[in-house]
Amino acid sequence: MVDKNRNLVVISAPSGTGKTTIVRHLMQENKNIRASVSYTTRNIRPNETNGLDYVFVTVKTFESMIIQNMFLEFANVFGHYYGTPTKETLEALNQDYTLILEIDWQGAEQIRLKRPGSLSVFLLPPSKEELKKRLTSRAMDSTDQIELRFQEAIKDIEQYSYFDRVIVNNDIESTCEEIMSLVNSPHTTKPAVSGEALAVIKSFTELGGEKI
Ligand code: 5GP
Repeated sequence: MVDKNRNLVVISAPSGTGKTTIVRHLMQENKNIRASVSYTTRNIRPNETNGLDYVFVTVKTFESMIIQNMFLEFANVFGHYYGTPTKETLEALNQDYTLILEIDWQGAEQIRLKRPGSLSVFLLPPSKEELKKRLTSRAMDSTDQIELRFQEAIKDIEQYSYFDRVIVNNDIESTCEEIMSLVNSPHTTKPAVSGEALAVIKSFTELGGEKI
């Protein structure tokens, strides 16, 4: 039997690393790739479309979906629920799509347990200065939210060792190329974490409560 889990690719990254751009690019370049649309209870942003970026629901609806076991994984991130719907995920895998789940490390942990054989990629920003710049310049969130996201980035990065591959997102093309080479040959002998990635990780984990 073909292992459908192999077609499931988890991509996690601290907020502001550019993972949405990467996922969009992967889909544009590879017709066999789809991205899962998560459910969330956070507010819709002006540039987002309900049903396309997320399915935006109330806490009541989300909690009733949890009870009905409708999520493959779910987590509370930045004080809001986010979850991957099971039905749509299985449908995409059964149609032989490679399905990307753009989820946080808590969700990645659940997928690792539930769907062994799936792949997981952790994206890093090129540097902490660059992450601060990206978080501040996109101006989608309040100052408090930006600070919260920067502090969360440090916690996220501490989870890097659980992922199959850690990639520094220096530019879209090379990051997508590396993800595709992992998808196409998951058993490569390439190390999961490069020296460059380790240096970025170290710069964050040695921060000791630095503020943005
Ligand atoms: P944002 O609010 O910026 O769109 O996403 C915030 C965080 O939630 C990101 O780290 C994103 O990857 C994560 N996230 C989005 N959808 C899901 C999901 O379905 N499950 C989990 N566990 N995390 C998600």
